[in-house]
This record gives sequence, C-alpha cells and structure tokens, in this order.
Amino acid sequence: MKIQVIEGDITQCRVDAIVNAANRSLLGGGGVDGAIHRAAGPELLNECSGLGGCETGEARITKGYRLAARHVIHTVGPVWSGGARGEAELLRRCYLNSMKLAEQAGCGSIAFPAISTGVYRYPLEEAARVALKALVEYFKESNSDMEVFLVCFDSTSAEVYRKEIKENYPHLQ
Ligand code: ADP
Repeated sequence: MKIQVIEGDITQCRVDAIVNAANRSLLGGGGVDGAIHRAAGPELLNECSGLGGCETGEARITKGYRLAARHVIHTVGPVWSGGARGEAELLRRCYLNSMKLAEQAGCGSIAFPAISTGVYRYPLEEAARVALKALVEYFKESNSDMEVFLVCFDSTSAEVYRKEIKENYPHLQ
C-alpha cells in the first residue's frame, strides 16, 4: 500500500492520472476543476461535453491533453449539508470509483485533491478520515500496487491528512 501526502498543485503532478473534483455537469467550474481545465487546454472541455455529466459519487475518465498526467478522472463529490445526507458514503464512492477507473486504464499512479473540501464545504478532518478509510479498504480488497498521492493545496490540509495517518494508519508512514 503506497499512500503519500504531498503539498502542491495537482495540475503539475507527473502521475498516470489526476483526479478532478468536478461538478455533475463535468463542464468545468472553479477551484481545482478550473485549474485542471486551464492546464489541460480546451480539448478537455470538448471531451467532457460528450460525457453527459456524472452523478455524485461516480467517476468518468478522459485524456489529460496538455497535462503531464495521461488521464483525468473526474469525480463528483457531495456538497456538505450537515453530514446526515449520506455525504460520507458518497465521498467514499468517489475515491473507490476513481481507483477502479485508474486500475482499468492501466494506471500505476494517481493523485487526488481533497475532494469536496473547497466550495462543497466538507469539513477537512472528516473528509480526510473518509478518504484514508476508503483507500485503505480499496487496497485490502484488491491486489493493487497503485501509487497514491494525496495532494494538498495548503499546509493546513496536509497537516490534517498527516495527523489522520499518524493516529489511525501508522503503518503508512
Ligand atoms: P469541491 O467543489 O469538491 O469542494 P474545490 O475545487 O472547491 O472542490 O476544492 C477541493 C480542494 O481542492 C480544496 O481543498 C482546494 O483547496 C483544493 N485545490 C484547489 N486548487 C487546487 C490545485 N490546483 N491543486 C490541488 N488542490 C487544489
């Protein structure tokens, strides 16, 4: 199991697939979504517009175009609305479905942003807990040797992820 927390801009990651925290239209937006579309170029929007959108918790794969990454996996995280609306399960599915798509596309490495923790307001600590739990579970149930990078845009979120790993998954350190 290879899970690493890094700080930086996901659009610059040299991995086989980067994950986009998209919205259901898949037609671009702000935050990490906007940054990925800007870096990939207009061909990405062109491919996305043929996909017909994506439900919350699901994922779709496209090419990476001008990115260093070969693929972009677009997944739609839940909007936080208090935690009693199935948000954790939906967020968990984002991670699992993205891993499955990456595996099917033959990827050996994948980078995730902190899905839903920006405009969608998912509390960072809880989102980090769900993300790590989903990934550890994925590795337990598959023979995957995918290299996973959890890309944090700022040091605060990186600290939250590192604390979660230290407290609950010390073997990952
Ligand atoms: P969502 O709508 O799913 O909340 P956002 O893009 O608003 O998506 O935010 C998700 C997370 O991505 C936030 O933690 C935000 O700080 C982070 N983020 C924004 N831009 C980048 C980037 N270029 N690379 C990595 N993470 C980013």
